[in-house]
Amino acid sequence: MNHDDDLIWLNGEIVPMSQAAISPEDRGFQFADGVYEVIRLYAGRPFTLDQHLARLERSAAEIKLALPIPTAKLKAEMLRLVAQAAAGEGMIYAQLTRGHAPRNHLFPEEQRHTLLFYIRPLDPLPGVDQTPHVKLLTATDDRWQRCFIKSIALLPNVLAKNTAVAAGADEAVFVDHGHVTECSASNVFAVINGILTTCPVGPKVLPGITRAVLLECAKELNIPVAERPIPENEARAADELFITSTTREISPVSHWDDKPVGRTTTITKRLHHALKQRVAAAIR
Ligand code: PMP
Repeated sequence: MNHDDDLIWLNGEIVPMSQAAISPEDRGFQFADGVYEVIRLYAGRPFTLDQHLARLERSAAEIKLALPIPTAKLKAEMLRLVAQAAAGEGMIYAQLTRGHAPRNHLFPEEQRHTLLFYIRPLDPLPGVDQTPHVKLLTATDDRWQRCFIKSIALLPNVLAKNTAVAAGADEAVFVDHGHVTECSASNVFAVINGILTTCPVGPKVLPGITRAVLLECAKELNIPVAERPIPENEARAADELFITSTTREISPVSHWDDKPVGRTTTITKRLHHALKQRVAAAIR
């Protein structure tokens, strides 16, 4: 599909993609000096937009960048693009970099920015019972210790995902010194003895927005929760195993390194129904 005529918001202006120009010396391009967000659109309505913008601001602060416009203004501009593009089902991709400057590891003296966002259509997500199960392939977690930052430096994730798909799997699951951290683009949950268990956010785990919403749902449903590092053998033997992200919601895991995992999906489905209810309420 040709996306050249899709609209993009670039540093305050909405233009067709084909007319958007970014410098070869943009620090995002040369140093991966930037952060990003992905926000799901359901029927043209962004879900958990405030949480995504708050995370963008936190990620930016972690790399010593401030948003060039307040989040309230950014939100209004995103809604303007969504309306102008007549978007339906899809996602907003937003990226903030330290902008254009003559190549130098040192930050430019005065702050610069490239801020952009655009919309990509996505297929509507299937119902809970139609959601496809996924297969994982193990990847050694050789990423940096600041995975709580939603950095655009994603090469380890990109390589792990490609290795996984080349091996016939859907997602790469990172294992760090015998413990499951997260996947290349999703968080991991296990149900162990009735307890919804997930690794705490931190050096090796992004504070996923879907993850946070599901922890709230679990509380509402009186499902016990434990945030602790999960040894790989415990995760493999878990009663239920699933992964979460903005674009996929929840995907139950059926195989891991070609071996069947996860006996049931009872709690997985309860949580997925609760998430769908929240989406329905948000787009009403
Ligand atoms: N971990 C990583 C490494 C990711 O890239 C993503 C997707 N952005 C997630 C977890 C899930 O986060 P979210 O629920 O906010 O999409």
